[in-house]
Amino acid sequence: MAEIERESMEYDVVIVGAGPAGLSAAIRLKQLDADLSVVVLEKGSEVGAHILSGAVLDPCGLDALIPDWKEKGAPLNVPVTEDNFYMLGEAGKIRVPNFPMPPLMNNHGNYIVSMGNVCRWMAEQAEALGVEIFPGMACSELVYGDAGEVKGVVAGVFGLEADGTYGPNTEPGMELHGKYVFLGEGVRGSLSKEVIAKYDLARDAEPQKYGLGMKEIWEIDPAKHREGTVTHTMGWPLGKNAGGGSFIYHLENNQVYVGFVVHLGYANPYVFPYMEFQRFKHHPMVAELLEGGKRVAYGARAISEGGYQSMPKMTAPGVALLGCSVGMVNVPRIKGNHNAMLSGKAAAEAAHAAIAAGRASDELTEYEADVREGAIGKDLKKVRNVKPLWSRHGLLASLMVGGLDMWTNTFGFSVLGTLKHGKSDAEATEKADQHQPIDYPKPDGKLSFDRLTNVAFSFTNHEESQPAHLKLKDPTLPVAVNLPEYAGPSARYCPAGVYEFVGEGAETKFQINFQNCVHCKTCDIKDPLQNINWTVPQGGDGPNYPNM
Ligand SMILES: Cc1cc2nc3c(=O)[nH]c(=O)nc-3n(C[C@H](O)[C@H](O)[C@H](O)COP(=O)(O)OP(=O)(O)OC[C@H]3O[C@@H](n4cnc5c(N)ncnc54)[C@H](O)[C@@H]3O)c2cc1C
Repeated sequence: MAEIERESMEYDVVIVGAGPAGLSAAIRLKQLDADLSVVVLEKGSEVGAHILSGAVLDPCGLDALIPDWKEKGAPLNVPVTEDNFYMLGEAGKIRVPNFPMPPLMNNHGNYIVSMGNVCRWMAEQAEALGVEIFPGMACSELVYGDAGEVKGVVAGVFGLEADGTYGPNTEPGMELHGKYVFLGEGVRGSLSKEVIAKYDLARDAEPQKYGLGMKEIWEIDPAKHREGTVTHTMGWPLGKNAGGGSFIYHLENNQVYVGFVVHLGYANPYVFPYMEFQRFKHHPMVAELLEGGKRVAYGARAISEGGYQSMPKMTAPGVALLGCSVGMVNVPRIKGNHNAMLSGKAAAEAAHAAIAAGRASDELTEYEADVREGAIGKDLKKVRNVKPLWSRHGLLASLMVGGLDMWTNTFGFSVLGTLKHGKSDAEATEKADQHQPIDYPKPDGKLSFDRLTNVAFSFTNHEESQPAHLKLKDPTLPVAVNLPEYAGPSARYCPAGVYEFVGEGAETKFQINFQNCVHCKTCDIKDPLQNINWTVPQGGDGPNYPNM
């Protein structure tokens, strides 16, 4: 193929991803020096379109970044007023009292927010400071300099032919070069994955672990709505099949976020995370809340769960990984937005100092030190053993031993040291002949819905003439190995019904309905053969979440 000619633009800092991490970095850079040139590139059709985390936000990140956020009209309108935690059985529930919980689990002072709206507001703040933000611009490639450093990204390639080649209608995109490139792509970022592999950044880290988070927004009967109430549950319906739990957050306007996280380290390939979520809504406690209401939006996204011991090295020449591109979620708190913001701020401060000192395209080691030794490291270190305990010994042990460990960590020590995760989520998947199929009840169309009906409520759209952005390294493996040995798990772990085995016997084909993809990245994580590579489709494609 002939060399592709592209225009290029030079910036001080190029930021990939308008999530809380990327936007915080952009804001902080311009706060420190209004003359720095900063660009943010976002694959969603608008800022917030791909942000799923309808969230309880710990405002400590925002406090550090924009201390007068209240006066500036940040959409943090619903303080948490009530915090409930339940262990569920099939028909009953046991309330876990708040007093034995370590202080870090307390949601007092936090807010129920739409993170999509928080990001939209942050983008306004950034633009007011002079940051250039380009939504609808997917960054599909990294650009390397002569010394092997990351020099920039390619963004804005549109109209590829169906076979992935350049045709007469292809727009080749632009190269955006920066003294530093920040990757704020969130969980399992595609460029971040390339950087981590190229520079072997994960060599001293435990494997990253993930959950699949699925969420619906419901408008419920006003008589049942209790603004500010936060409820978390564990237990039913997951049982021994997988770890995970639910969240129910009452926000404004009689709306409720109903979400469910399934840890992707499950062994049984018959587990169907989406159907676990749908089944959960039939628990009497949830059904009673939702009956008479309607689901107005649906989405899904992976969540990083490896925590402190899974964070890879965060810098390589010319590039820094931010937020959940590193994996900064505090798992027992199910919170990562505050750390994403703090990491963006820390990276910006390191880059600002480096540029002021005349440096460019080297490693921002000061950023990594700040993350590991500062507020983010402290937040994550305290809870580092909860996830490995849960994966190895189940829910009860993680609650009791993990709870005790969190308490002792509050006072600065742990009797357990740092536990390892061991296997990646892909490696944890066992062969189908070691497990029994699971019988999931059919959705009733009132409380529970089939996947394709729900995907319509993610408002996902992909230009059909482009090549599938879900690439198989070896196209023969799904039918030759995944199906006979693992019972075709992609047909179940994908929360958007992208993967299907169609036909029978020798006629069986593997079909990728990439148009449905909600960009959760679960396939890239959970495929036992690591044969699926999630790459970015053209900008503007994917979900269009409203106020998730
Ligand atoms: C179901 C669920 C519930 C959660 N609940 C909470 C909660 O209650 N509280 C909390 O604090 N945290 C919560 N989290 C965690 C939180 O969502 C993350 O920690 C946070 O989103 C990380 O921020 P980020 O900026 O690193 O990445 P993201 O928020 O994922 O943002 C990344 C952005 O980069 C864009 N992008 C990615 N790749 C490219 C590319 N190549 N080119 C251009 N753009 C790109 C994406 O479209 C996206 O807009 C939850 C997560 C999930 C999945």
